[in-house]
Amino acid sequence: MARIVEVATAGLTRELHTPFVTALRRTSHVFSVVIRVTDADGNVGFGEAPQVWRVTGESLESIRACVLGPLADCLLGSEPAAEPAAQVHQALAGAVVANGGARAACEIAVLDLLARGAGLPLAGFLGSDTDSVATDVTVAADGPGWDPVGTDASGFRQVKVKVGLDPADVDRVIRIHRATAQPVRIDANQAWDLATATANVEAWLAAGVELDFLEQPLPAWDLAGHAELRRRLPTPIVLDESVFSIHDLDRAVDAASLDVVNIKLAKCGGVFAGLGIGAAARTAGIKVMVGSMMESELGVSAAAALAATLAPGQVHDLDAAWWSIDPRRDPGTPYSDGRFLIDRSPGLAHSASRVVGPDLRWERSRRD
Ligand SMILES: [Mg+2]
Repeated sequence: MARIVEVATAGLTRELHTPFVTALRRTSHVFSVVIRVTDADGNVGFGEAPQVWRVTGESLESIRACVLGPLADCLLGSEPAAEPAAQVHQALAGAVVANGGARAACEIAVLDLLARGAGLPLAGFLGSDTDSVATDVTVAADGPGWDPVGTDASGFRQVKVKVGLDPADVDRVIRIHRATAQPVRIDANQAWDLATATANVEAWLAAGVELDFLEQPLPAWDLAGHAELRRRLPTPIVLDESVFSIHDLDRAVDAASLDVVNIKLAKCGGVFAGLGIGAAARTAGIKVMVGSMMESELGVSAAAALAATLAPGQVHDLDAAWWSIDPRRDPGTPYSDGRFLIDRSPGLAHSASRVVGPDLRWERSRRD
């Protein structure tokens, strides 16, 4: 049994091949922090925490300070292999409030280290033998972004359209629905009010648009508004920004506000919290989808391991890494035929090897 002797962080910047635009923000890059934990035998594990000012409030600076400060204090000297794996989640959750992305990345890094030691993929370590999960692909809020006619080599079939910036959204969604001939997912990222949401959905239904679901049309706090939309409309409602924790889910279920919950590691603070939300959702009759923030293949691979464990048959929301990988030029892309290929190497070793290069500049917190 080896103690953790070092926790390190490095900033990661990746350029997107297409600007990513939602009702909350526009970005042309992935900005995240890679976390590396090292044990006394020199074994390593990696995780990734994304900067998400408008959802989690975490920044590159806050993640770095949180990881190298209280979370490193919590991990350094511990022997994770000597304890139940869920213990690391409890310890990190007890070290800071909020900071879900930083906590999740530290937890993933420890689980990566443990899974590598066990010779298992992270998904296998969590109990899943699934080798891929289906994912949607996002169409940015200011234009197609992705060719909805289907020439992309990744073979995406399920489209999720970001809306909320433009009255022309109604016509744009009708065009995309006609081009894809598939039910469309809609994500308004809190941009609408009750009247706008009702009018837009009724316009789509009148035009013959099939909607797979409507995600977070109203502000995160407005559980009653989402419940009212469920009464007015036949379209399933997904809550994303409204549900960070299992307690948020309980309140949303009590208010009858949702049909589906979008679980993200950076919101809930790690795999074990995600598994807990997923189990509670299933008990309440709520469907589960796993998503991610705008992050690299490392972070999305961790989310995919959770997706494979929780709901292997669902179409998830895991296209984030596609935006910084051009599948036409990268033969190692984890996207194929509309699916994200689960990392089957020990831990997340393969995904980490594609993201962690000699260009990263590490800052270390160490205790020998
Ligand atoms: Mg969303």
